[in-house]
Amino acid sequence: MIKASIISIGNELLSGQTLDSNRAYLSKKLLGIGVLVVSGYTVSDNVDSISRSLHQSSEDADIILVTGGLGPTDDDVTRGGLAQYLGVELELREDLLEKIASYFSGRNREMSETNKVQAYLPAGTDALSNELGTAPGIAVKAGGKSIYAMPGVPSEMKAMFEDSVLGVLEALTSGQAVVVKKLKCFGTGESKIAEMLGDLMERGRNPLVNCTVNKGVITLHIISTASDKVEAERIGAEVETELRGRLGELIYGSGEQSLAEVVGKQLAARGKTIALAESCTGGLVAKLLTDVSGSSEYFRYGWVTYSNEAKTKELDVSAELIEKEGAVSEEVSKSMALGAKKISGADYAIGITGIAGPGGGGKEKPVGLVHISVAADNNIESSCFTFSHDRNFIRYLTAQTSLNMVRLALSR
Ligand code: AMP
Ligand code: MG
Repeated sequence: MIKASIISIGNELLSGQTLDSNRAYLSKKLLGIGVLVVSGYTVSDNVDSISRSLHQSSEDADIILVTGGLGPTDDDVTRGGLAQYLGVELELREDLLEKIASYFSGRNREMSETNKVQAYLPAGTDALSNELGTAPGIAVKAGGKSIYAMPGVPSEMKAMFEDSVLGVLEALTSGQAVVVKKLKCFGTGESKIAEMLGDLMERGRNPLVNCTVNKGVITLHIISTASDKVEAERIGAEVETELRGRLGELIYGSGEQSLAEVVGKQLAARGKTIALAESCTGGLVAKLLTDVSGSSEYFRYGWVTYSNEAKTKELDVSAELIEKEGAVSEEVSKSMALGAKKISGADYAIGITGIAGPGGGGKEKPVGLVHISVAADNNIESSCFTFSHDRNFIRYLTAQTSLNMVRLALSR
């Protein structure tokens, strides 16, 4: 298997001033041609650091992509770092000097003396043409490694990569393919998922299963490597079946699917409709559901009822019940869901009440306490949660959890 490493060069990347978008772009492009990125380094504009990172990259990679540090100023020293790594001197290349000079004359600008350094390349390396700027890239094969140094400016880097590098790498890696399939899970934590997957998540396996989490959604990446795409897809599908068997209903979708999208699809497929009675989420469930195009097919009504009066007037929640149980209670969330279902005539209704914080919490009913009820045809289901972190997170997790409850109700 041919593997790659990416080195991003620049003090501005280390200080966090510039986000390393080149790395994300290159990783994605490499994956597209079946090359896994096995290591990556971000280093300062320093000859020794650059040379050291090239040594580190060459330990586990066959292709090394470098971006940044090819500018004309004193802090751009990638040329020197590469020369040190190769053990050669920098040489003036007259053809490059001419090209840089014509770049300026073509724009009626005077070439400054500092641009001259861009015409120096480590001896024995090839120049990669830069159609958008003055800095030529550098290509060299050394010790069995293919090294490509490209500019840091994203537009210049992309153009150079696509024009001069991608094709060569494609030819180099024609006998391999990497296929990534993503499965989306909701309803438990990352560690529980890892426990359920057990041996499937062991390192060094093929397909490799990786796990990431973002706001309660756990994404499993099944990364399959094989000699061609069909075979990679086949071994990936085998692991997917195994994984689905172990996780069951925790998996709600694949790719970039959201819970709202999946719930919408389920509703549409069954010809069912939904209504919402939201308190602490302020309409967020309505927003998530209606973010999906075509949602008017199944989205009936949404109420945002914060005051007791609104709950009573709009949703038929009895004032005595609120008085007795408190607005944040299982009974009130149930009554909200039932009221919303009845008044809207929808097949499913969600009732949400809780304390998003940061104020308003007490000992018995702390910040993050949420009651969610889902009313369906002949039954109503309620759950109580205590979410943490900040107001936004509590509200988002509440909204997602309520959608997940509808998803599960729909699959029964
Ligand atoms: P350089 O080729 O090092 O002179 O980089 C020129 C400019 O490109 C820098 O000032 C940054 O704004 C930008 N840049 C450099 N490296 C990256 C990177 N890895 N991702 C995104 N932008 C970058
Ligand atoms: Mg730089």
